[in-house]
Amino acid sequence: MLEIRDLDVRYGGITALRGLSIDVRQGETVLLVGANGAGKSSTINAVIGLVRPARGAIRLDGRDIAAVPCERRARLGIGYSPEGRRVFPSMTVRENVLSGAFGMGRRHQRRALDWLVSVFPFLGERASQPAGQLSGGQQQLVAIARAMCSQPRLLLLDEPFLGLAPIWVRQISEAIREMQRRGTTILMAEQMARPALKLATRGYVMRGGEVRREGTVAEIRDSALAEEYL
Ligand code: ATP
Repeated sequence: MLEIRDLDVRYGGITALRGLSIDVRQGETVLLVGANGAGKSSTINAVIGLVRPARGAIRLDGRDIAAVPCERRARLGIGYSPEGRRVFPSMTVRENVLSGAFGMGRRHQRRALDWLVSVFPFLGERASQPAGQLSGGQQQLVAIARAMCSQPRLLLLDEPFLGLAPIWVRQISEAIREMQRRGTTILMAEQMARPALKLATRGYVMRGGEVRREGTVAEIRDSALAEEYL
């Protein structure tokens, strides 16, 4: 479904990705794991269109999406939850979640919201509260629900577990499982390998902007856990 080939990303003189090639097949949950600065966010940001690669190709269903602007990629069925729980603090929980389905029609939005509230009752209980007043874990759940709200075919999750208490790690894991049950394809970047390894089918261990290992979760588990402590 998603093919990344020979991707280079540079920020001025800094090379963040070097010849990166990654495949995500339909229905898979693929994990990018690696220490700080390994290049995980740069990979996700290149797919969503927030950074422009210096070289290489990104194909979605065989189509090169390099020329598709960031705001149009959502319409291709890509959902995105950024690193660091970026919710809109003064908007309510409900407004935050619905912003993920912006421009999609009232009926679609209502159905998506009903579904999300049935999965995470907390979103209903806190619907009218400004998102900035929530705890870190609650904000992360709102950010993920926002990405789920458009019911994307490909969901990009950047560090969904970082800095969260175990109770929220469980809730976020449940959200990801719900998307898996719906057949969503997922690409997830995560430093906290342990909970992510429970959800992924395959993974890539990254370091210095390159893939160091790839394989099934069983094959990469040891090196993924080693990177977690770097
Ligand atoms: P983290 O978990 O810290 O986000 P990461 O694995 O996601 O790490 P990236 O954020 O992709 O890694 O960073 C890869 C490299 O690119 C690092 O050396 C980082 O310092 C650098 N980098 C990332 N964003 C920028 C930027 N906007 N300007 C300059 N350098 C950047």
